Amino acid sequence: TELEDKPYYPRVKEALTKVFRLQSFRTLQLEVICDVMEGLDVFVLFPTGSGKSLTFQLPAVCQDGMTIVVSPLKSLILDQHRALRALGVDVEMLLGEMADSQRKEVWRRLGSGHVPKILYLTPERLEMDGMRSLLQRLQSSGSLARFVIDEAHLITDWGRSFRDAYVQLNTLRTAYPGVPISALTATASPEVQGDITTRLHLKIHAPWKLSANRPNLDYDVRPKTKNVLSEIADFIKNNHPRETGIIYCSSRDKCEEVAKVLRDKFQLSAKHYHAGMADQDKAQVQEEWSSGRIRIIVATIAFGMGIDKPDVRYVIHHSLPNSLNGYYQETGRGGRDGKPAQCILYYSTGDFYNRLRMIRGNPPSQMRDAEEDDIRRVMGYVTNDVQCRRAQVLAFFHEDFDPVHCRQMCNNCRDNTPCVTEDHTADAQKALRLFESLSRRPRARLTPPQFIAALKGSKAQMQVERGWTNDPLHGSCSHLSNDVLARLIDQMLWHNFLSIEQVRGSKDGYCQNYLTVSLSAAQPAFAQLMPTCPSLGPKRMRCGEASSS
Ligand code: ADP
Repeated sequence: TELEDKPYYPRVKEALTKVFRLQSFRTLQLEVICDVMEGLDVFVLFPTGSGKSLTFQLPAVCQDGMTIVVSPLKSLILDQHRALRALGVDVEMLLGEMADSQRKEVWRRLGSGHVPKILYLTPERLEMDGMRSLLQRLQSSGSLARFVIDEAHLITDWGRSFRDAYVQLNTLRTAYPGVPISALTATASPEVQGDITTRLHLKIHAPWKLSANRPNLDYDVRPKTKNVLSEIADFIKNNHPRETGIIYCSSRDKCEEVAKVLRDKFQLSAKHYHAGMADQDKAQVQEEWSSGRIRIIVATIAFGMGIDKPDVRYVIHHSLPNSLNGYYQETGRGGRDGKPAQCILYYSTGDFYNRLRMIRGNPPSQMRDAEEDDIRRVMGYVTNDVQCRRAQVLAFFHEDFDPVHCRQMCNNCRDNTPCVTEDHTADAQKALRLFESLSRRPRARLTPPQFIAALKGSKAQMQVERGWTNDPLHGSCSHLSNDVLARLIDQMLWHNFLSIEQVRGSKDGYCQNYLTVSLSAAQPAFAQLMPTCPSLGPKRMRCGEASSS
């Protein structure tokens, strides 16, 4: 191709095989590398794991001078530093957390005129005096090859993750004119892309973009029933009897339990993996799984970092992932070899409450709000049984995906039952008003089934005894099926109009879920907020539901 005619191509190709010990470039890597070799600014927008690092590491090795890489995380820097050292690349790093003696040693080497190919820094380091004079010295001697801003989205305040020291990076262009800049990120909406470009003063026509779509992954979402484990066992036995898979669970106990049931009851080759295990046990299980001696690993999200097993044929979520980003990363461990892999997510409202309770067990913070937001978006995903799953996941990454390209590789695109959209705003308002009124009475605690019964106008003894049947709104949603009402209440929960309080019974430790109003009923704002109660999104019409509304 044209790029292979470039004068520096032989050098680049040799570095790929000899230094990085890789066979070929992945999609767009060579394109970006050529721009970098030519001293241009680049903006690289590739999904995680697609090989962004090579786009600056390889040219850094091939070029004279030092490439300064600004990275937000110590762990990322340590990993890349270690990997490059192992390949024999001359690389240095400066971190706030380094031991004094270690940092002095790095400074001594830099001060003596040694110019490593790459210097990794956290952004805070860049502002320090010693660093400024080093960079100025390098620039005047023509040895400042490039600035690389990893996780460049942190420079904008559009997103929720934002870092003060990153904002200062907007001065790089004026402080070091003529030094090219690479900006790298896996996630940026069009607004964020524009903002990054402006703030860094990048001279680019457009970002280099790679879709986050994983066309060989099949996405399926199913409600979780009591029989989930036998469903999972059947799925594995029928579809992947001799193949490798991952089952994600939300807790350590659950991992152990699920692995045990799969082994003992279903004779499957499964073992658990979680952060509570001793390092040597974890290493052993991972090794057994990687080598194929055990086929199924039942793990918390602690499992996955650095997993590069190519032939994972299925990824099952036994409980909800914490976020759509997490879901994308976890399912992304399937089908690395490009062959089909199936991703099944089992969801339940109970798992949602559990997660919410865990999040709310922490002191209030921005982080906590973000986590709550994340799990609500997951609920939005699992309950949207109409829109292409892929399109939904990719929308989370600000990618506009045409479902035609899904090629029936998700359960929503495969399902051709007709869709209906039902607007239940008015019902939701009635329900909230009834709830507000019932919860003002003595013995006011309501469980979700009791609330549904009240909305249906049940004459059950407890409803009568507590006087609920006298409420004018009792029975005001009798035209709706239990299924629709359950869905409605769920939506009000996810949107935070109602919440759940869990009360442990005195006798047997059994937990009962009670509904509570999250927007305090005493607040005058309550009534005003009600009209914004969401309507039920589009849903598939299943047998027997047609007459319900
Ligand atoms: P990103 O920064 O985009 O998340 P990385 O740069 O960390 O991704 O790369 C992810 C993995 O892909 C690494 O293990 C890396 O060695 C590997 N990789 C990158 N480029 C290639 C390539 N051309 N051929 C094979 N493996 C590659």
